[in-house]
Parts: sequence; C-alpha cells; structure tokens
Amino acid sequence: MNAATKWLIRDAYRSGEPPNEIALRLALLETDVNRTLRSMIKANKPAPKERPEKPVTFRVVLIDYDADLRKALIEKLRTTPLYLDWRKKVLKIDRYRCRECGNTKRVQVDHIYPLSAIIHNYQINSLEEAAECELIWRISNGRTLCSTCHQRTDTHGAKAKRLWIEGITSDE
Ligand SMILES: [Zn+2]
Repeated sequence: MNAATKWLIRDAYRSGEPPNEIALRLALLETDVNRTLRSMIKANKPAPKERPEKPVTFRVVLIDYDADLRKALIEKLRTTPLYLDWRKKVLKIDRYRCRECGNTKRVQVDHIYPLSAIIHNYQINSLEEAAECELIWRISNGRTLCSTCHQRTDTHGAKAKRLWIEGITSDE
C-alpha cells in the first residue's frame, strides 16, 4: 500500500467514515484498512515526555578485594603480549627516557592511574576483563620513569591505595 492511500484512509476515518466503508470505496480489504489505521495512529502518538537528565556522578565501589589475588593478576598481566605492546608504545613515545630526569638507564613504564587502582575500582577479576578495560591500555595513561623517579611518585606501590579510595579517574 502506498503512502497516498494510507493518508486517504486516515483522512476518511477522521471525517467519520467507518473502516468497512472506506475499504469498500477504495476496493481494499477491511483488515488492511484497519491495520493501516492502527499503524498511523501509533505513529501519531506524541513523543514520551523527556526525563530531566541526571548529572553523571562517579562513585567508587569499595569492595573487599583480595590483595594477593590482585597482585597475582597484575603479575600475570605484565607478561601478556598486550601489556608488552602497550609498554613498548609508551617507551617509544618517551624515547626510552625518564620523563622526570631524562635518565635512559633502568627505565620503567608506569601507569599514571595505577594499575592496582584500576583493577580495584573497575573490579577486574581476570585477564579477560583486564583486556577489555580501555583505561589499562590507553597510551596516555603510561609514562616512562627511571626507578628512582618512579619510587618518588605518590602512586608508587602501596601509595597507590589512596586512589582506590578517592577514585580519581584520568578520563578526559
Ligand atoms: Zn628519572
């Protein structure tokens, strides 16, 4: 059925012509006329009232995370090709130099939003879940530091725990 016929049916119906008579007049099946009317009435329904949008808030879910489990997961993660590739990319961008002092010896690649904090805050429990977490693999979340400068950061090792509580995200 073409659009013109559909509008003809609707106008006839609105002017008070019953569906069976419209069908007869336009040489159509009554069931087709009824179906057309139903679909057009549905399409004419006003759009549902828009709900006021809630502001986006960030909430850290504090879970009782098994520290050993997290440690083991991070250790495993660091041996995956995905991790080694991320590390290589960060090193390349930083030209294999410490971002703080320029040292080229004993350089390490650090997650700015610490890996342990990501794993905690995003409740990552497996390598598969880690692979899906974009923040872990974001190049801009990596930085090259020598071991001395790395230790000086306020997110080194256990100091990173601060971030689990505050839930700071490096999301732009
Ligand atoms: Zn350094």
